[in-house]
Amino acid sequence: MEPDLPLASGGADATTMPSELARLRAENSLLRAQLTEMRQQQGAARRDMESAQQRFQRTLYAVSHELRTPMTSIKTGAQLVDRRLRRLLSQPGTPPIAPTVAPLLDLLAIVLRQVNLQDRLLSDLLDVSRLEHQSIEIHPQVQELQPLVTSTITKLQALYPNREVIVIMPPAAIQVNVDGERISQVIHNFVLNAISYAPLHLPITLRVTVDKRFARCAVRDEGPGIARDKQRHIWESFYRVPGIEMHNGASAALGVGLYLCRAFIELHSGQVGVESAPGKGSSFWCTLPLAL
Ligand code: ADP
Repeated sequence: MEPDLPLASGGADATTMPSELARLRAENSLLRAQLTEMRQQQGAARRDMESAQQRFQRTLYAVSHELRTPMTSIKTGAQLVDRRLRRLLSQPGTPPIAPTVAPLLDLLAIVLRQVNLQDRLLSDLLDVSRLEHQSIEIHPQVQELQPLVTSTITKLQALYPNREVIVIMPPAAIQVNVDGERISQVIHNFVLNAISYAPLHLPITLRVTVDKRFARCAVRDEGPGIARDKQRHIWESFYRVPGIEMHNGASAALGVGLYLCRAFIELHSGQVGVESAPGKGSSFWCTLPLAL
């Protein structure tokens, strides 16, 4: 006959288990209560953050909108004065007030450049806030890419006559299906960044190429270049690469230009990118849908 097996811990368990179980149950419900409270706190923090973000967006929109309205009047007024003074100077025979007016035109050029920068900055901020509300629409139209590029560069060069921008485009007309204003804004931002960050004496090249479905615009500069780990952040809003400074007064910088470029290009189902390395310059590119 087999001897009775000792109850390994059965004897002890029989008495200790209910209280152990009760302790574990109590611990469990305490943990559950703590978890519920943490979830509630997390939910409240998320709601607070969302409402702070909404307040920020509303303020951003209101401030940019309020500031932009007078800025538009200042810009229109300054452009009008500039045109009238130039017309006056171009009259046959030198008008007697010419020596007084000519230096005023130089001053006016500085005013116009600053006004343009502030105007651009405010409209960028308005666009950022519209994008956050998904309220930006594009209006694509079939059009030739070359005149769009040329007029954008001509306007920029009028503001920065000392900067050389070499434009290389295929001779045959490239038909694209794009919102001209938004694409002009993207090219403007790429080139203005090159003007702002690359040394004054080095040229900037804008090259347009075409493949089967897309046209590609690439803006190359010989500036400081961007480290690999920073490259994906430059497309985020309000991000600026630490240590990369723009030439004094070349542009106003908030770190939203590339964010808008990416958004506008993605609204066209295109792509953006950058090829860059510290000390080796940068090439910012985007693709645009061809009108097929
Ligand atoms: P910002 O108004 O600051 O120029 P962007 O969104 O256009 O804003 O650019 C984001 C950041 O990317 C810039 O602050 C700068 O640090 C970097 N960056 C943009 N373009 C260039 C460039 N061509 N060369 C070097 N760094 C650049």
